[in-house]
Amino acid sequence: DHARIANFGAGPSALPVSVLEEATKGLMNFQQTGVGIAEISHRSKEFQAFLGNLESLIRTQLDVPPTHRILFTQGGGSAQFSAVVLNLLARYRLLHPERNTEETVLDYVVTGSWSKKAAEEARRLGGGQVNVVVDSRQFSESGKAFDSIPPHAAYRFSPDPALIYYCENETVDGVEFSHDDASPASFPYHLLGGGTNALVPLVADYSSSFMCRPIPHLADHAIIYAGAQKNIGPAGLTILIAREDCIVDVDAAAKLGTTPVPLTLSYKTLADSGSLYNTPPVLSIYIAGLVLERMQRHGGLKHYEETNKRKAEKLYAALREGEGKGVLRRKVKEGSGSWMNVVFEVVGPDAEKAFLEGAEARGMTGLKGHRSVGGVRVSLYNAITEAEVDQLIAYIKEFVQ
Ligand code: PMP
Repeated sequence: DHARIANFGAGPSALPVSVLEEATKGLMNFQQTGVGIAEISHRSKEFQAFLGNLESLIRTQLDVPPTHRILFTQGGGSAQFSAVVLNLLARYRLLHPERNTEETVLDYVVTGSWSKKAAEEARRLGGGQVNVVVDSRQFSESGKAFDSIPPHAAYRFSPDPALIYYCENETVDGVEFSHDDASPASFPYHLLGGGTNALVPLVADYSSSFMCRPIPHLADHAIIYAGAQKNIGPAGLTILIAREDCIVDVDAAAKLGTTPVPLTLSYKTLADSGSLYNTPPVLSIYIAGLVLERMQRHGGLKHYEETNKRKAEKLYAALREGEGKGVLRRKVKEGSGSWMNVVFEVVGPDAEKAFLEGAEARGMTGLKGHRSVGGVRVSLYNAITEAEVDQLIAYIKEFVQ
C-alpha cells in the first residue's frame, strides 16, 4: 500500500506487509472455518492447533529445551514485573520454608528505565529486600544517565537470591547486553553462583529484543518474558519461557506465608491450562503466528540476526560520521548500543525538531525519543527492512552535510 510510510516506532511497531495482508483475510475467514479470527472460539480445534503451532515455532527457532515451558499470557511486560516476583517468592518459600521472610533478597541489575521500574515494583510488593546488584548510572559522566552496560567487576550478587533480574534490551535508553561472552558488555553469567538454589533463578525481560537473534544461555534462565508488540505482533500477547522448577503451587506457598498470587498471574495456572485459563488475545496470537511462520520461511533467527546486525552497524556508522561533523551525538557508550533501539541527539537549538520534521517530510515516522529522555530513537525491529534503514541513512547523511 503506497500510503504506508516507514515506521521506526518503538512499540507498537511496524509489522511485515505480507503478514498484514494475510491477517486481513483471517479477520474475515480464519482457515476456511467461515468465522473470522477475532470471532472464533479460543476453544475451537482450529485455534488450539494454531496456538500449538505458535508454541512449536518459538521452541524450534529459539531452541528452547524440554526443561522449559512456553506459556502465553496478557498484561504486557508490566504485569510480569509483578508476576515474576510473586511466583519466584513462592518458589523460594517452598524451597526454604524455615527461613525468615525478611531475609529474602531479590537481586536487580539496573541498566535502564525498564529494569528500574521492575525493581520499583518488587519493592512495592514487599516480600523480600531488593538488592540493586549494579546501577549503570554510576558509570555515566553525569551520574544520572543509563548509557552503558557496567563492567563485570561492578556486579554485587547476593549469595542466595529468590530471583536475579535483568533487562536484555533497554528500549528507552538504547542500552543492550552483548551476546558475545568475551565482550565486557555481556551479562556476567560466570558470576552466578546459585547459592543453595540448585538452579539459578535468573529472570530476563526480552520485551524489545525477543526473536531478533538467538538467546544465549537460554537454558540457564528461570524465566524469559516478552511482550509481542515489538518484533512479533500486536500488543496484548505476552510470551513466557519458564523453567519447570519455577512453575510452583502458589497456594501451597501462601499457606507458608507468601502473598496470595492472583490466578491469572500464577505460572501454574497458565501451565496447567495450556495457556487457556481464560480468553487469550486471539488476534494478537494469530498475527504473532503469521510473523513466526514467515520468519521460519526466511531462514529463522540466523537470518534475522545477520540482517539486524547489518542494519544496526550501518546506522551506527552513519551516526559516527554525523558525530565527527559535530551535528549528532550518540547517547550510549561504544559497545553498549542496542541493535533494536538506537538513540542519539541532534546538536544545537531546534536542530532535533528540524531533523524530525525533515524525516516526516520524507515519509519516515516514529523517530521521537521516549518522552522521559527526549532525543531521537530509531527502532530497528525485524519488520524494518534494509531499504528503510538505507532511506534513513541517506537522510542522515544529507542532514549532517
Ligand atoms: N520492558 C521493556 C523492555 C519494554 O520495552 C516495555 C514496553 N515498552 C515494557 C517492559 C513494558 O511492557 P508493556 O507496555 O507491555 O507492559
